[in-house]
Amino acid sequence: MKLRELKVRLAEVFDLNMANDLLSWDQSTYMPPGGAAARGRQLATIGKLAHQKATDAEVGALLDDLRPYEQSLPADADDAALIRVARRGYEQLACVPADLIGAIYAHSAASYDAWGRARPANDFAAVRPYLERTLELRRRLANCFPGYQHIADPLIDMSDYGMRAESVRAIFAELRAELVPLAQAICAQPLADDACLRQGFPEAQQLAFGERIIRSFGYDFSRGRQDKTRHPFMTKFSLGDVRITTRVCEDDLSDALFSTLHESGHAMYEQGIDLSFEGTPLASGTSAGVHESQSRLWENLVGRSRRMWQHFYPQLQAEFPAQLGAVSLDTFYRAINKVQRSLIRTDADEVTYNLHVMLRFDLELALLEGRLEVKDLPEAWNTRYLADLGVAPPNDSAGVMQDVHWYSGGIGGAFQGYTLGNILSAQFYATARAAHPEIDAEISQGRFDTLHAWLRENIYRHGSKFTTDELVQRVTGGPLSSAPYMAYLRTKYGELYQL
Ligand code: ZN
Repeated sequence: MKLRELKVRLAEVFDLNMANDLLSWDQSTYMPPGGAAARGRQLATIGKLAHQKATDAEVGALLDDLRPYEQSLPADADDAALIRVARRGYEQLACVPADLIGAIYAHSAASYDAWGRARPANDFAAVRPYLERTLELRRRLANCFPGYQHIADPLIDMSDYGMRAESVRAIFAELRAELVPLAQAICAQPLADDACLRQGFPEAQQLAFGERIIRSFGYDFSRGRQDKTRHPFMTKFSLGDVRITTRVCEDDLSDALFSTLHESGHAMYEQGIDLSFEGTPLASGTSAGVHESQSRLWENLVGRSRRMWQHFYPQLQAEFPAQLGAVSLDTFYRAINKVQRSLIRTDADEVTYNLHVMLRFDLELALLEGRLEVKDLPEAWNTRYLADLGVAPPNDSAGVMQDVHWYSGGIGGAFQGYTLGNILSAQFYATARAAHPEIDAEISQGRFDTLHAWLRENIYRHGSKFTTDELVQRVTGGPLSSAPYMAYLRTKYGELYQL
């Protein structure tokens, strides 16, 4: 009875949050520029309402009343997990004043809008005051959780529950020590030729081909759709409506294609959640890192494998005979796995990608600690790119303004999930292939059912029931480890670059 009452209240919060996500989706896809100001206000209004409902004292009382019931259940029972995760969310939100939530929503929308105009104009000065305000709001948010070790900890915890600045730094340092020499060895080789990807590829055909692949992966279009945006993302409004977005570049085949594969991985995770979790805090992926592990698994470990293209490349050639008819599978495979020192994170290859992430993570910590001021951020960014990747951005559009995250309100906790996801993607994939060695042969025939079923059974269906640590332990039998990821990179790129 009490549980039913709690679920009713949680569903109201869920619905308000999903309504806000729908407004955000619209803002990023179809909304005309004139809608920006009102949209920010609307997001703030609904965000505040959701916050009020989520932190209602009645919810706290229900959670208290339900404690004996929770404790009578095994920890991995659905009801126990629901009460536990709801309590964690309640305690977290109850620390944050509703006014601050409203201010964050309103400011984030305004900042996103300003970035949308400033980035093409290469005008960092125009977004600087927004970033300064974002930083101030994020500090205030972090300070709602006193007792942290590092000011970024509460913010990291919101996207990757259980992680701390300290633990992420340790994981990154270990990975970096192996990654940098590998990247250097590869970059000392002649560049792969990816000219075959940079020809004219009409938008409609590109979209159709990407959708054909993700349909075979198992993305369910009866519970989803794909639209165009500036900065691709996945969003959901219920477990029956999980959408993806992409952007198309007609003279670069890889942009839309791999962003579609990537976002479909996020979306299949959400579509695969146990439907009985609908409307509760369990109905969402468990952390940024685990979410990213699913997108990167499909985009890279599957989507950039020779195996998968053994099946799809002849179809791609048939779709684009003038462009690819005379290009061999080998050339195409090398092109989609070209490693190079580059400026843009979202275009980066698997080997150098994490260096882009690590420097953002470090800059976020420096900003939050007050060691770095927003006005000095572009210079710090450029210096670090030169040091880590050997390239200097020609302007801020291709530098510090390239990613939406900081400009949509998220300084702190915004980036570590990408690299944690890369690490986890290889760990999960190795476990799946060990359990089902037939996965490799199936992929080379364009079949993904065994892999998809394994992911659904072991990861997707649980939603947020388990924390990242619990999930990794359950699925792989051990803690998070970057060893499978490094082994994967060494094998694949060792062969590609004859190291
Ligand atoms: Zn992603």
